[in-house]
Amino acid sequence: MSEVYFAKVGASKHDERLPKKVKELFDKAGFAGLIGKNEYVALKAHFGEPGNTTFLRPQYMRQIVDKVKESGGKPFLTDANTLYTGQRSNAIDHLNAAYQHGFLPAVVDAPVIIADGLTGRDFVEVEVNLKHLKTIKYGTAAYHAHVIAAVSHFKCHMVGGIGGAIKNIGMGFGSRAGKQQMHSDVNPKVNDEKCIGCKTCLKWCPEDAITIVDGKALISQEKCIGCGECMISCPTKAINVRWDATSQSLQEKMAEYTYGILKDKMDKCFFFNFVLDVTPDCDCVPWSGAPIVPDVGIVASTDPVAIDQASADLVNQQRANIGSKVTKAMEPGEDKIHEVHNLTWDYQLKYGEKIGLGSRKYKIIEI
Ligand code: SF4
Ligand code: SF4
Repeated sequence: MSEVYFAKVGASKHDERLPKKVKELFDKAGFAGLIGKNEYVALKAHFGEPGNTTFLRPQYMRQIVDKVKESGGKPFLTDANTLYTGQRSNAIDHLNAAYQHGFLPAVVDAPVIIADGLTGRDFVEVEVNLKHLKTIKYGTAAYHAHVIAAVSHFKCHMVGGIGGAIKNIGMGFGSRAGKQQMHSDVNPKVNDEKCIGCKTCLKWCPEDAITIVDGKALISQEKCIGCGECMISCPTKAINVRWDATSQSLQEKMAEYTYGILKDKMDKCFFFNFVLDVTPDCDCVPWSGAPIVPDVGIVASTDPVAIDQASADLVNQQRANIGSKVTKAMEPGEDKIHEVHNLTWDYQLKYGEKIGLGSRKYKIIEI
């Protein structure tokens, strides 16, 4: 059974402020002991697509940077480039997006290094020999770090169900080629009855895979890389996939990636999930939907499976927020995460446990 340290949201005096709780979690969870003198510590961030306002606040990251330095390590903030268009698909735009969102030395006191370089081609290939993938391709900066920590905004995800530690490491560190591997089973289809031929999806598609034929969008399955951009950009929700079938393989591949990235660092990794602003979609989208439940708190663990299981359980223990994407009243104990995108979110956890990434059994230790 893994240990998951938990600090509740909410404060009514100076001593209870959340940034202080981040440092206390770091101490109580014993993360300092994982860091050797002058070791490179990769703090895996998600800087948020410009337009999104619920990405992880840099002020929280600063607390972890301070603790890593105090522990003797050399921290840097990092993420890999995205597969799709947007403002994080190359290192220049990606760094500018990070700076725009406050991930600046003056705020976080650490440099930002894009893990897979200028164009997403700076990656290493590592053998995993698992069910879906023989090798994985991920950012060189993550490979060379001595310690890896995922600092994640926990939320729902339109393909993976949840976006927590496994998604942040597995999908997040994947190079462009790696992300394509993980998305390879996602084949979106257009519902002609809903398509109004507005061409919005054409503008978002990074592969020019969509054309308009007889006033309706048509997707070339040969060109499509399964990034899902068209689905989230379509104003009439005319594009969809067989979510559960594709989501299972994508989630399992994310777990394989996470396993491959961490396999030589199992005793050199740690995780924070901020279960705050639990939005229906990932921070990759340039907007922020209303949170589906009230803010919960912050969890910390050395087990990526346990921390994601605990975070999802904490979300589902809340009442649903009226007016969010959870359209019906849902009580504590009901699965609000499943309700948001109508997909099963725990394939990554079951499979992660099976391949030795961690345990779904956990003990909450509240600080
Ligand atoms: S964005 Fe949607 S409605 Fe517009 S052309 Fe594409 S599929 Fe059709
Ligand atoms: S068709 Fe959709 S899923 Fe396929 S590459 Fe284009 S935007 Fe991505």
